[in-house]
Amino acid sequence: MATNNQEQKQSEAGRHQEVGHKSLLQSDALYQYILETSVYPREPEPMKELRELTAKHPWNLMTTSADEGQFLNMLLKLINAKNTMEIGVYTGYSLLATALALPDDGKILAMDINRENYELGLPVIQKAGVAHKIEFREGPAMPVLDKLVEDEENHGSYDFIFVDADKDNYINYHERLIKLVKVGGLIGYDNTLWNGSVVAPPDAPLRKYVRYYRDFVLELNKALAVDPRIEICMLPVGDGITLCRRIK
Ligand code: SAM
Ligand code: CA
Repeated sequence: MATNNQEQKQSEAGRHQEVGHKSLLQSDALYQYILETSVYPREPEPMKELRELTAKHPWNLMTTSADEGQFLNMLLKLINAKNTMEIGVYTGYSLLATALALPDDGKILAMDINRENYELGLPVIQKAGVAHKIEFREGPAMPVLDKLVEDEENHGSYDFIFVDADKDNYINYHERLIKLVKVGGLIGYDNTLWNGSVVAPPDAPLRKYVRYYRDFVLELNKALAVDPRIEICMLPVGDGITLCRRIK
């Protein structure tokens, strides 16, 4: 009985962290406090609209949280980003946070294998008057990156790159992105704490997809930690974001 209760608690904890709880903070009340005190009151109207629209979508678990959106928006302004890239768009919450932060002639090369979800959010992005900054490419990101790398003119040309897609490819993306981002520019790898599973014991009851991608996230984290081409900072915002600043 005790084991059953324990199992139930563990699976409830897993569910709690996965569904609707977009932070690794162990207290719902504290997370709610952050959202209600400093995020929602300052959230631009289009981002609120897109967040509410996305909440009705069956895959809403994938969206960037409002606090992370606010973080990205400020970060982009702090570094005066102009030329940016995003891998993994979904309905576009992080894309809109980026587009709103860039100057009017700023650019985002946005890639996703799924155009339908991007088009769900697109009317909101258009209404916000920032769609002209976005070049959307439908399809897997890797061939696009390979093409970009082929042309030396693209080397060192990106101020900021946000990676929020297939976790099993992050390490491969990194070898391309490190060439494309400028020295002093940033790459942000999202979900690097992977639902907290990076510290889960081997027998922890993890969802299949969490377990599957966990090893890739662990490998990435190890590789970034020893990569001499970058400085890094792993932040417990959202599901964990690792900022990599190219230094050579
Ligand atoms: N940044 C988004 C947001 O703020 O809502 C969330 C992105 S969601 C977590 C991951 C996205 O990556 C999905 O929309 C999926 O279609 C896309 N994706 C998966 N594999 C991909 C690939 N190989 N190339 C490009 N996009 C991919
Ligand atoms: Ca993410």
